[in-house]
Amino acid sequence: TEELLRKSDKLSVAGQLAAGLAHEIRNPLTSLRGFLQLLQNDVKGKQHYFDIMLSELDRINFIVSEFLVIAKPEAIHYKKSDLKDILQSVTALLETQAVLCDVELVLEFETESTELVCSEMHLKQLFINLVKNAMEAIEKNGQIKLTVSMQGYDGIRVRTEDNGCGIPEDRLKQLGEPFYTTKEKGTGLGLMMCFKIVEAHKGTMTIQSHLGEGTVIDVCLPTMTTGHYIKDWN
Ligand code: ADP
Ligand code: MG
Repeated sequence: TEELLRKSDKLSVAGQLAAGLAHEIRNPLTSLRGFLQLLQNDVKGKQHYFDIMLSELDRINFIVSEFLVIAKPEAIHYKKSDLKDILQSVTALLETQAVLCDVELVLEFETESTELVCSEMHLKQLFINLVKNAMEAIEKNGQIKLTVSMQGYDGIRVRTEDNGCGIPEDRLKQLGEPFYTTKEKGTGLGLMMCFKIVEAHKGTMTIQSHLGEGTVIDVCLPTMTTGHYIKDWN
């Protein structure tokens, strides 16, 4: 089961919406939060309600922030970078969490040439999201493997493999749609952000999955990208 996902139309609509709305939502949220905290001191015996209200507000804020990252009409800055450094810092960052989740996190290089023109910050976000999803899909005896290889003469492929729960075939199409999530605390924005980042780099992201066996996500990136700005596709 394989599907090459291209979501540019959906992304631009969602992006426009997000950029406009997210800012407008955050300001009143901040003021609501402030007044709630003030009230909290005056109202006795109802602390539990305040805790719920404050944590719900934080949740809204978190979702809006994730959406803002996707839609922020800011330029991506491209420079020559080493994918090896990027991926090593991603696995270092997630290593503790992996140990806690009883997941073995492996990074393998099948090529020596790992330089590419990219936005380091965005590629880190991309792979952090993919590895986090993989971790969340794993129940026990988890293994997540990142393999880097050449893709033709001018491309690099990063394959992220996990032995988690997998994705049903009829759901593959929905991946990357805003708010599509199967998790109780999920936002359904992670993969959308990933697609957006890959697209900005003029790469592709392909998802293959077998229910109950695991998921393979291939991110293919050109080594020389011609600088493409997020604002161009909003
Ligand atoms: P979230 O993680 O907040 O749910 P994402 O956009 O990151 O949102 O992922 C959307 C959905 O795609 C997840 O809820 C999950 O059902 C599915 N998914 C993504 N990655 C994997 C994976 N590696 N294994 C199984 N399911 C996955
Ligand atoms: Mg996610």
